[in-house]
Amino acid sequence: MAKITLDNLAHSYLPKPVTEDDFALKELNLDWSDGEAYALLGASGCGKSTLLNIISGLLHPSQGRILFDDKDMTMAPTTQRNIAQVFQFPVVYDTMTVRDNLAFPLRNRGADPAYIQTRVQQIAAMIGMEDTLNRKARGLTADAKQKISLGRGMVREDVNALLFDEPLTVIDPHMKWELRTQLKSLHHEFGHTMIYVTHDQTEALTFADKVVVMYDGRVVQMGTPQELFETPEHTFVGYFIGSPGMNLMDADVKGDKAVIGGVEIALGKGFGTPTGKVELGVRPEFTSLQAGDSGLPVTIKRVEDVGRHKIVRTDFQGTEINVIAPEGGEISPDMNRIVFDTAGVNVYSDSWRVAPKVA
Ligand code: ADP
Ligand code: MG
Repeated sequence: MAKITLDNLAHSYLPKPVTEDDFALKELNLDWSDGEAYALLGASGCGKSTLLNIISGLLHPSQGRILFDDKDMTMAPTTQRNIAQVFQFPVVYDTMTVRDNLAFPLRNRGADPAYIQTRVQQIAAMIGMEDTLNRKARGLTADAKQKISLGRGMVREDVNALLFDEPLTVIDPHMKWELRTQLKSLHHEFGHTMIYVTHDQTEALTFADKVVVMYDGRVVQMGTPQELFETPEHTFVGYFIGSPGMNLMDADVKGDKAVIGGVEIALGKGFGTPTGKVELGVRPEFTSLQAGDSGLPVTIKRVEDVGRHKIVRTDFQGTEINVIAPEGGEISPDMNRIVFDTAGVNVYSDSWRVAPKVA
């Protein structure tokens, strides 16, 4: 197992990239700690597979280095990296039995036959395929073949890292949950470094210790689920994570005051004088409705009861501001002001979070 370091890494699929737009992966520096479970989260096309394939060696980066425990592996072939990778769609040997498919990575490395026998049995139990071990893979459903691919990815105990690229796409919803749980327990048992790619925030937040959020070829934040919730470093993290996502409002910020649509509010801490496009970001969990005449005047558009709480959708001068209100609380017509809990107020300048000034 190894710590993985990406040093000044960038990748373009073009032979002669010129502008930043030519790069599928913009320059990044990142450390992946040994033994941690990561989720790589972002919308389709943001560069997740590109990044994963560079780590496994399927792709050589056009710029920068990749290190395993400080050893330069940038040009090392996949075989030397000792990494198991599972893809979105099944990769199985059709003419082999399920058993031989699962045993393949172990036989390839000359493992002891008795060990192979036991280990294959364990893995078959994890993916729920003990009864089909002697069947040929040909003719199995896509779902079953993908489970074999997953099993093959998990069979070796001595890998540096396990990479999963949206592995549950073709798996039926019930089995998805089951397999994700298995992956988590595999992580607890063996402590491999794991990187799990997904575009689904729930999947990312339930699987990983740390989530790496990508947007438009850039890693915009690596953090615990709590950090992504409390201090999104980029507005994308704010609105991509959460349901509903973070409220964003254009604002003029000076010190500890903001003016939003002509209304001044207190921020609770100082932010200097941010420049560029300045926005206030406040999650619906830190936003509440009240009667009276302080706060932002809004119109209530809709109240959604989602069980644990209510989501109140309001309009402030054409901008939607969402509020999460307690399940039992009454929403009366005179509650037409929005106030923010200053603990949850973030300020953004050109989409990036401005650190509050320490008093
Ligand atoms: P994701 O896995 O997040 O959906 P990808 O890493 O597959 O994103 O793609 C990132 C960007 O690189 C996309 O704009 C995609 O079209 C482009 N891209 C991916 N693979 C290739 C390739 N082999 N050749 C050229 N462009 C590619
Ligand atoms: Mg992809």
